[in-house]
Amino acid sequence: MQKINPQRIRDLRIKQGLSQQELAHQLGISDRAISKWELGYSQPSASHLIALSRLFCVGIEDFLSAAQAEKGEESQGMQSLVELFKIGRGPSSSHTMGPERACKTFMEQHPDVNEVEVVLYGSLAKTGKGHGTDRVIQKTIAPFPCQVVFNVMETDLPHPNTMDIIGKRDGTEIARARVVSVGGGSVCFEDENVAQTLDIYKEHKFSDIAAYCKAHSLRLWEYATEREGAGFLAYMEKVWGVMKSAIARGLADEGVLPGGLSVKKKAKALLQNQHIDESVQTRENRMVCAFAFAVSEQNASGEQIATAPTCGSAGVLPAVLYYQQQQNKYSDKQIIQALITAGIVGNLIKTNASISGAECGCQAEIGSACAMAASALGELFLLDIDKIEYAAEIAIEHHLGLTCDPICGLVQIPCIERNAVAAMRAINAVSLASFLWDSRKISLDKVIKTMKETGRDISVSYKETSEAGLAKIVF
Ligand code: SF4
Repeated sequence: MQKINPQRIRDLRIKQGLSQQELAHQLGISDRAISKWELGYSQPSASHLIALSRLFCVGIEDFLSAAQAEKGEESQGMQSLVELFKIGRGPSSSHTMGPERACKTFMEQHPDVNEVEVVLYGSLAKTGKGHGTDRVIQKTIAPFPCQVVFNVMETDLPHPNTMDIIGKRDGTEIARARVVSVGGGSVCFEDENVAQTLDIYKEHKFSDIAAYCKAHSLRLWEYATEREGAGFLAYMEKVWGVMKSAIARGLADEGVLPGGLSVKKKAKALLQNQHIDESVQTRENRMVCAFAFAVSEQNASGEQIATAPTCGSAGVLPAVLYYQQQQNKYSDKQIIQALITAGIVGNLIKTNASISGAECGCQAEIGSACAMAASALGELFLLDIDKIEYAAEIAIEHHLGLTCDPICGLVQIPCIERNAVAAMRAINAVSLASFLWDSRKISLDKVIKTMKETGRDISVSYKETSEAGLAKIVF
């Protein structure tokens, strides 16, 4: 088991000019707990580790790698791509998939519970109604009764998507868990050791991965397949199947999306409404957008999709790949290789910045999806690794600062249209990268770091709270 370096916590606290009491106050825990962490008698929980990383402006791996360096071990790596591409129901990976996963795990861990109360905080409380978080939680806990409380007043939280699950037996509390929904459908229980799940990939920087691939003459998907092991390709086939099926259902679907905004489903109209003298380029735009709308509308309808990297941004990657398959007859095998390439880019963003709109704004969701789609298209076109990196970098760079302001907390406006626009941007990014790659100035690692810092500076009202932007002006 990998350990947190106690000295690192102490050093960062002192650098920040905080006493143990002040840090304890900020985290809502006792100063004895801080003292124990710094003496190495106990370790911060997953949610406290996330809170520390946000407070000290460092990555979680910073605490872990310091510990490993002390022992002369390799630096912290990345999780499996299976944790990135999740199959589930929309509309939100952090607000529906994550809480669903948390409640399922809680009920499995506590089979004696016959009544549950769930308290939602932060972004989960502010936009949970629109996302349908309460409905998903109650469905997961059923047949047992479940009360969902939206606590919008509490601000002292380890993460913007925090929830407490309280399990009762005949009216008496018998179990309790604090869980954070960290984005992309992943959750961390407070008493969980996050370090245990983070070591499928040894490398966690694109520069290291690229160096490895070049040294071993591997493409990115080959590198990932080598690391992931048995069953991985079969899982990715399943993911591609879910993506194709969401497109097919979305293109056939009509009517109005749930939630009360009266947003019409438009994928079918985009597919059918051909321009009278349509150019090849206009047709490409229309078709790619139709596919992106199809997946995003299925997501907004609570249907099955695959996160790429989240539910809200799930339409970008499949739209770009499906168009290529239809138009240029790429095989499923080639598409899956492209998907895996996209997964590496998404995983780097998830590990070194964020894929959560509540944490870093929409740049982390749509910006990441666009970078994933650009790298996937680069792989389909068999571009070399430097061009793939540049395409992904361009895609992120021009989404930096993008805010998250969904109207009424529904993953509809601006989310659905934004998927289509990002799909087109991904195609443009690949085109630019193919021509200009030798004059580039910014690496993928640097733009990911920039995304993280930009996300930290974006006002909280623009991070999936529906308190500003379109959500405030329009309704
Ligand atoms: S605005 Fe972007 S980040 Fe926010 S819910 Fe919509 S897709 Fe997700």
